[in-house]
Amino acid sequence: MSPEGLTSEPAVTVALCIKCHKLTNAPVAVRWIQSTSGPGTTLYACPDHAPGLTPGPMPGELDKPA
Ligand SMILES: [Zn+2]
Repeated sequence: MSPEGLTSEPAVTVALCIKCHKLTNAPVAVRWIQSTSGPGTTLYACPDHAPGLTPGPMPGELDKPA
């Protein structure tokens, strides 16, 4: 077995679409909310709505100091 691939993918398989509020089994991360008191929250959209949403900052893109 190779150690690669064990931690590279998040275990998100089902998520709620922020547009139609339906569960999708192919969620696309479209936005990330940074929290001051814990880990940030990733918001997802279904494949139908993801292209129409403006992508927000993702983890790693918020490195600039506020
Ligand atoms: Zn949707």
